[in-house]
Amino acid sequence: MQRSSLKSKKIKEELQSIKKVWRNTYKNSYEEGLHFLLDGLKDKKFLLESVLTQIKNKVPIQYILKNWFFYDGEYFLNPHVLIPRPETEILVDHIVSNFSHAKKILDLGTGSGCIAIEISKKLSESKVVGIDQSEDALKVARKNNKQSSNPVNFRVSNWFSNIDETFDLIVSNPPYISENDKLDESLKHEPRSALISKENGLSDLKEIITDAYGYLQDNGILILEHGIGQEEPLKQKMLNNSYKKIELIKDLNGINRFIVGFK
Ligand code: GLN
Repeated sequence: MQRSSLKSKKIKEELQSIKKVWRNTYKNSYEEGLHFLLDGLKDKKFLLESVLTQIKNKVPIQYILKNWFFYDGEYFLNPHVLIPRPETEILVDHIVSNFSHAKKILDLGTGSGCIAIEISKKLSESKVVGIDQSEDALKVARKNNKQSSNPVNFRVSNWFSNIDETFDLIVSNPPYISENDKLDESLKHEPRSALISKENGLSDLKEIITDAYGYLQDNGILILEHGIGQEEPLKQKMLNNSYKKIELIKDLNGINRFIVGFK
């Protein structure tokens, strides 16, 4: 009895200090972040000093909590991987709903593995390969892979450098932010290599469009997430590379965010 009330007093004090530091840092501009943070810390062991320092440095709550939710899964995260975004759930949903016939699927730049793993869970007959150039990212993806009963085959590759087979479907959420854009403060803690691409953010997308064609089966599908206003040059790139049908898909805000090319 005495022990547990002591314990709860300590927890109350810790929560108070988290709230205080949060409001000093964000003023009243991001109360929902505080709500998610406190909710996430409830069942976790954490070091108070470390949490407070991270808040002061505006580390995203997903990295403080070391996990976040994506589609139907929960993902371990660290700063070697991008934080999964809600818009990317549309990408997974589109594949699961429309391309469930795909038996061999490749996810390029897999990061936390969230796209590949969610697809492997839903399309349990399909074989999914996830690649990343970063061994540190692959460590995260492999840890997350345990939640799938149809585990993804994760391996290191710089786009197609280590791929020697063909696929029914290739998916990617590659870096697409321009190096000239001023990075939003919230993005500063995420891996730059997963966010920024040359040629106004188009360089990696264009490279993938050109190279993927040779790694697709006949009638294979390439589906990509892209940045705002990038659809026209990407469409042109697909046309120049012989993709026979192209579709654009919008995100939750009604903005063109995904492009699909059929071989
Ligand atoms: N969607 C992310 C953002 O705009 C960028 C992710 C990416 O570059 N693939 O914050």
